[in-house]
Amino acid sequence: MSKVMIIGAGGVGNVVAKKCAQNDSVFTEVLLASRTVSKCDKIVQEIREHLPGSRTVFTTAAVDADNVPELAAMIREFGPELVINVALPYQDLTIMDACLETGVHYLDTANYEPRDVAKFEYSWQWAYRGRFEQAGLMALLGCGFDPGATNVFTAHHAKHHFQAIEYLDIVDCNNGSHGKAFATNFNPEINIREITANGRYWENGAWVETAPLEISQDIYYPKVATRKSFVLYHEELESLVVNFPTIKRARFWMTFGEQYIKHLNVLEGIGMTSIEPIDFRGQKIAPIEFLKAVLPAPESLAANYTGQTCIGVQARGTGKDGQPNVHFVYNVTDHAETFREVQAQGISYTTGVPAMIGAMLMLQGTWMKPGVYNVEEFDPDPFIAAMNEWGLPVDELAGIELVKD
Ligand code: NDP
Repeated sequence: MSKVMIIGAGGVGNVVAKKCAQNDSVFTEVLLASRTVSKCDKIVQEIREHLPGSRTVFTTAAVDADNVPELAAMIREFGPELVINVALPYQDLTIMDACLETGVHYLDTANYEPRDVAKFEYSWQWAYRGRFEQAGLMALLGCGFDPGATNVFTAHHAKHHFQAIEYLDIVDCNNGSHGKAFATNFNPEINIREITANGRYWENGAWVETAPLEISQDIYYPKVATRKSFVLYHEELESLVVNFPTIKRARFWMTFGEQYIKHLNVLEGIGMTSIEPIDFRGQKIAPIEFLKAVLPAPESLAANYTGQTCIGVQARGTGKDGQPNVHFVYNVTDHAETFREVQAQGISYTTGVPAMIGAMLMLQGTWMKPGVYNVEEFDPDPFIAAMNEWGLPVDELAGIELVKD
């Protein structure tokens, strides 16, 4: 019985809206607002076609989420309990400001990143803790898959399998194929900024920096494939090493195909991934923004996507019985199945479903306390139960070390 506002109508916004429509006893009214209102209208049209029985009432609107007064006015008029932010990380702070101004809870899937510095970290959003607490409001940060489900999997390890987690390896494999020479699975600008940055992992109380894609190993992804995987810095590492202080080393691994890396190297080599604006016919443009305009939109990849994703978390340390333990928790998602269900590829699906689940748990009061939180700070059990119910089955593998030292 809740009203929510979803901001952003890209690949992830599409999935969140459709999962809310499926879960119509919780999400009774939804305002889907984004920069380009026609994208919102298209999603709602698809909901009417594919989910004709849904009782969720949808409205759409154009909004500039960089503009706090505009946002606040729209929130006031619609009166939601919660805003789900699936626009871009650049909008996190303005949307949090608008939520504070209007007395509304907040959820997002990616931490704040300034537009002009290729850097993301939680400090900016953690600085809102006092203000959310005083206002009696909750902000849930990073509630997609990674971050999001991976934080929940870590909390699950800590609750059910370990006295102390010492070594944490988060692994993300996309073994899918979209048939394009080069494309990114979510917003190209955000994706390329993440991958071309230096790698980083946590070891013995400090961050160890690596060159981009410097460290790799072949990892077996259960039910999917063995794939070469690379260490890169990923945002959930920052909160996990704070919330699980027994962790001695935490790394994040992602698979990239040779074709992808070859294209990325060339694009980087000729300056196309730069965020520094250049003069072009009297106009300032950042090459990476231009590149985004040239590349296929992530949502356009969905129709022809085949193969699966496998994302999971391996923990190693001292088990509940005091003995050495290694355990893996993961999900496998099939691109073609997600397309059949919500007309989206697996990456958007695996991000959008946890966002809907986080919102549901907040609205039901299961995960609700004033302040600004990361996902691992709550009980993982209801979240994992909801993943199994809402399309992201969770599996476990005991006693086998998939990621080596
Ligand atoms: P898209 O680029 O496909 O969609 C972003 C949407 O936000 C677009 O509809 C865009 O509008 C809209 N938008 C951008 N700027 C504004 C603005 N100023 N005001 C209003 N709307 C705006 O991205 P994705 O859907 O792939 O990703 C959405 C979010 O999910 C990102 O923050 C991304 O980092 C995060 N993500 C998180 C993952 C996780 O596992 N935690 C994994 C993948 C993504 P327009 O259509 O006009 O461009």
